[in-house]
Amino acid sequence: MGSPAERRGDARELAAQLDADGVRNLALTWVDNAGIARAKAIPAARLEHAAQRGVGMSPVFDVFTSEDAITASDHLGGPAGDLRLFPDLDRVTVLAAQPGWAWAPADRYDQDGTPHPACQRQFARKMTERATAAGLDLRMGFETEWVVTRTPAGHDPAEDDAYEPLDYPCTGPAYGMTRIVELSDYLRDVTEALTLQGIEVHQVHPEYAPGQFEVSCAPGDPVRAADDAVLVRETVRAVSARHGLRASFAPSVVAGAVGNGCHLHLSLNRDGKSLHRTPDAAWGLAPDAVAFLAGVLGALPALLAVGCPSPASYLRLQPSHWAGVYQCWGVENREAALRLIPGAPDDPDGGSAEIKTFDGAANPYLAVGAVIAAGLHGIETAAQLPAPETEDPGTLGVRERARRGIVRLPGTLTEAANRFEKSAPLYEAMGKVLHGAVLAVRRAEEARFAEVDAEEIAAVTRWRW
Ligand code: GLU
Ligand code: MG
Repeated sequence: MGSPAERRGDARELAAQLDADGVRNLALTWVDNAGIARAKAIPAARLEHAAQRGVGMSPVFDVFTSEDAITASDHLGGPAGDLRLFPDLDRVTVLAAQPGWAWAPADRYDQDGTPHPACQRQFARKMTERATAAGLDLRMGFETEWVVTRTPAGHDPAEDDAYEPLDYPCTGPAYGMTRIVELSDYLRDVTEALTLQGIEVHQVHPEYAPGQFEVSCAPGDPVRAADDAVLVRETVRAVSARHGLRASFAPSVVAGAVGNGCHLHLSLNRDGKSLHRTPDAAWGLAPDAVAFLAGVLGALPALLAVGCPSPASYLRLQPSHWAGVYQCWGVENREAALRLIPGAPDDPDGGSAEIKTFDGAANPYLAVGAVIAAGLHGIETAAQLPAPETEDPGTLGVRERARRGIVRLPGTLTEAANRFEKSAPLYEAMGKVLHGAVLAVRRAEEARFAEVDAEEIAAVTRWRW
């Protein structure tokens, strides 16, 4: 952040521009440890003040659960204290589907101006800077999957039963053109709104589950990728509302069915060159790319507590559902937790990897930061990748999986949280305050849903993210 005076000057200009664009309100978001985007809104005319002094918000949200219950960690919890939300002036975006509104992601500072130790966005930035210091330039991007349903007439979220049958606005087959025809105005408005907001849409397509779609967008630096994940989701939500529809980004919309993933793509560069395009190297991967990916693969059991943070996440994580539930990697293998995408051989920027296991309940800032921490740890320890897997591990049988050394990733949030608790690299990277807050929220979610059956978990969490 620049000095208060600089920020004020920048904000003054920006506020005049927003006013000319007809913007009246600015929503500042940050994402809590349960993956919920929380917001404070200010009149656009207050931007100058907000840029200089920040906007107040309690630190207690760091220990909010996905259902707005409040837990506590060793460092956070309780009604006392205040933080300042500072809008990132470089990311102020006029919202296409919410006329009169703009949005900006916020960084959180203590009142004395020091970075709040549990600020997830600053954690993502710190990890990105660590990667830069190691000479690595990372590109990342999230895929957004959602299920769209009709809003019941006269729907009252406080009254209506969470078990209401879902009313899908399209009936076409998985990946079917029929669905695009059925919802062509809606899908056009989604892509148009994103484009107007400066998001470069790569593709939009119907997915497997009823009413399910996906949009993927251009990658960017890790913090930008996380910001984009928030903006894409809120845009899809806003466009859906304008069409009388509701969007669910929950990991498990209907228990037992294919869920919503939020896969994280990443690629590595050094000195302007792709580390996925090394001549004569296996799969084109430079040694640092191998070590980084091996670090991520090795840390996946602990990373699940970040990327799959809800008991609902574990309803989605079923074998043979393209959700990557086995700790293995493979070239274009959609059942491997880590899928290597070689890209076209003549594309110098081609080549990336995809973490398939993560879902939309994850805080995207924590996800990118934790993945970078794990990858850098892989480089520090010269981690190596095992042999790639070409088959669906779910079809191999227990003995064959054991022979190949393929392990099932944690099948419960408790198991993932236990691995996260013991992960020294993640603890070191996050620091005790953020690590402790994440763990406290996971433990609270475990306790809340311990005796709850799958259908109810899906129903209760369906509209939370
Ligand atoms: N919906 C699947 C998931 O739960 C992913 C489908 C795909 O590979 O895009 O992650
Ligand atoms: Mg998909």
